[in-house]
Amino acid sequence: MSVYDDKPWLARYAAGQPAEIAVEHDNAVDMFAASVARDPDGEIIRYFDGRITLRELDELSDAFAAGLVDAGFAAGERVAIYAQNVPQFVIAQLGTWKAGGIAVSVNPMNRERELEVILRDSGASVLVCLQGLHRDVADGVVANTEVRTVITTSELEYQTRGDQRVFGGVERVSCAGTVDMAEMIERHRGSVPPQVSIGPDDVALLTYTSGTTGPPKGAMATHRNVVFNAQTYRDWVGIGSGDVILGVAPLFHITGLIGHVALSLLVGAPLVLMYRLDPDVTLETVREEGATFTVGSITVFIALMNSPGAEKEALASLTKVYSGGAPIPPSTVKAFQDTFGHYIHNIYGLTETTSPSHGVPFGVDAPVDPASGALSVGVPVYNTVVRVVGEDGEELPPGEVGELVTSGPQVVSGYWNKPEETVRAMGGGRFRTGDVGYMDEAGWFYIVDRKKDQINAGGYKIWPREVEDVLYEHDSVREAAVVGVADEYRGETVKAFVSLRPGAGADAEELIAFCKQRMAAYKYPRQVEILDELPKTVTGKLLRRELRARE
Ligand code: AMP
Repeated sequence: MSVYDDKPWLARYAAGQPAEIAVEHDNAVDMFAASVARDPDGEIIRYFDGRITLRELDELSDAFAAGLVDAGFAAGERVAIYAQNVPQFVIAQLGTWKAGGIAVSVNPMNRERELEVILRDSGASVLVCLQGLHRDVADGVVANTEVRTVITTSELEYQTRGDQRVFGGVERVSCAGTVDMAEMIERHRGSVPPQVSIGPDDVALLTYTSGTTGPPKGAMATHRNVVFNAQTYRDWVGIGSGDVILGVAPLFHITGLIGHVALSLLVGAPLVLMYRLDPDVTLETVREEGATFTVGSITVFIALMNSPGAEKEALASLTKVYSGGAPIPPSTVKAFQDTFGHYIHNIYGLTETTSPSHGVPFGVDAPVDPASGALSVGVPVYNTVVRVVGEDGEELPPGEVGELVTSGPQVVSGYWNKPEETVRAMGGGRFRTGDVGYMDEAGWFYIVDRKKDQINAGGYKIWPREVEDVLYEHDSVREAAVVGVADEYRGETVKAFVSLRPGAGADAEELIAFCKQRMAAYKYPRQVEILDELPKTVTGKLLRRELRARE
């Protein structure tokens, strides 16, 4: 039996015919409205003991949208959302769309400089953030940006239902100069939501990525991109309203935005939000909520296996398991299957492909590349053409290794305010992924290397330049080069090689602490090695490969 047999569109694809499916909604707001109409009293969000129904989410996001408009927000403006996985993230995102705005997601691990870069680049006029993040990071940054309104919200809101009110029952700390999200929503409950028209080509999300080159760029995912890839998840995995989605991937990342939020809005299935990755709490939550599907990165699965509660019955209901964002070795898939009895399906994509462009259809075991031992990332999803190209852009036949170039309705419309980078990366709708791999005769794809300098720490991407720039700010540092080195848990981690100015006395520990203070926790170098000189070519270019080879 081939992987295509039980799905007609896969069979057409295998026969070399375009497997075209229609994008079912013009925009993500209509997509959600269809789910509300089907089952208004169904649950859509679960957060600890808190429960939100589709109708309630509709009303809450209407009120949020009305509040934005009341504060002078116009269609096309950006709302930055800086939060962990909490219900307010979804309310703010949906409310932003209802007001015709663009939601900009920000990694809650980001520190001052990283947040400021995103706020300034996106030109966000509104910042929604959790109180703790406002107090610790955002407050000092906002004045240097175009943000006019800061909306804060409590980490604890929604944990319990309260007394007949969805909002309520928790202490809110008032932050000077900010709007309290709960009060804003209460004030606008029942008001007529803004009347805006949203087309499929309008931008829905700005998601920041280092891409294949340098500094963070906002990938512009349109409403069509979002609806299409929500459908991809639904059909590739086979998700219906009876499923329960375990929201363990961070919502700021495209995997969480599409594989959790957009999917749940499309099918009307409950999304169980996990505030952070705590393996014991996750196992308990799966059991209590009967979660059936999740998508996460390898670190999630390793953490679950290493938890004291790891036993076969612990994940009994969680039969649909997908891993994306980073390579997953067959040995981890096997260990997970031995522990919990479920196979991990691989899924592949980038921020620029609005999450998946390839996936392993549910219920199928993917083949393994005999040479590298890499597990296949699956086959391209419907409506999608993926070519493997050589150094001169020529298309390579099956079996030959080259760069993956993807065309399809999931490729974003470009990078925000970066027309040249957009043309370079995805001119003509052909997106150069920077990933190196091949397709076998049966149509399975394998990723075996990458062209970009990016470091992939368990799905978190790090651009060496960002870390090097911080190291250069230290008085003792003459030269710095950052590379990825092997790590058992994350696959890769960050290592810096540094040479010091004459007479400088900094040691590795001091440099690590210096970086740790200035960047998100997953980015700072775990190791620093001090060398007299960094290896370079005769023209003075750093030899990163040589540094990597030292490991
Ligand atoms: P991001 O933009 O953060 O989603 O990162 C995309 C990058 O993650 C890709 O270019 C790949 O290098 C890597 N990636 C994503 N999914 C997989 C996978 N299933 N296997 C190997 N690498 C992956």
